[in-house]
This record gives sequence, structure tokens and C-alpha cells, in this order.
Amino acid sequence: MGRNLRTCAWCYKPTSMPEVFAADTPLLEWFEDRIDTYCKTNNIDRKILWGAESDWNKVDIPEDLEAELLTYDELVSSVSRKVICSPCLKQDNKLWIKYYNKDFDSDDDLEIKIEDLS
Ligand SMILES: [Zn+2]
Repeated sequence: MGRNLRTCAWCYKPTSMPEVFAADTPLLEWFEDRIDTYCKTNNIDRKILWGAESDWNKVDIPEDLEAELLTYDELVSSVSRKVICSPCLKQDNKLWIKYYNKDFDSDDDLEIKIEDLS
């Protein structure tokens, strides 16, 4: 079986990983931090500003931040089949746990399990 190298859609490095369903962009640590910082500075519950339960009627968001949030939302929620390398998947999983599963004790269940299709 020859090494069938493809290109990671996120970092453009060669990888032998099979296709998975993934967003157009990985979670961006600097942007997640920006959301956290904005919420802390303005004393806003992160859930109100960002995520499934967000309610922008309850917060006053500056226009530039609103535009960035909308763009980021679009990128991380448009999922399609693409090849993502293992380091990218691990990093994305790490950030997911850090920013979206803060109360999650063990990451065992979230461990990336990808069948080798080759
Ligand atoms: Zn990658």
C-alpha cells in the first residue's frame, strides 16, 4: 500500500489522514480569547455573546466585533468533507475542550477516533 499523501485543508501540510467532516477553519485560539476578554471586560456572560444560547438583544456589541463574530460563526459552522491532518485535529479538539467544554472532566469521550480508510 503506497503512501497516499494529501494536503491538510487547514495548515496545507501533507498528511495521510482520510477525509473527515470539518469546518472551513479550525477554532482560532486568538479569537476565542478575544471573545473571553471582551466578556470579562464588559462583564458579559460568554453564553450570551457566543454560542447556541447567545442573545444579542441582551448585549450591546460594537459593530466591528459583531462583524467579526458573524464571519467567525460562518467559518466554523460551514462543515464539509475535507482532509485534516492529525496535529490540526488534536489542536482543534484541545481548543474545543478549553473553550466549549470547561466543565468537562475527562476528554476520553472526545478523543478523536478516525478509522483508517486506506
Ligand atoms: Zn493540518
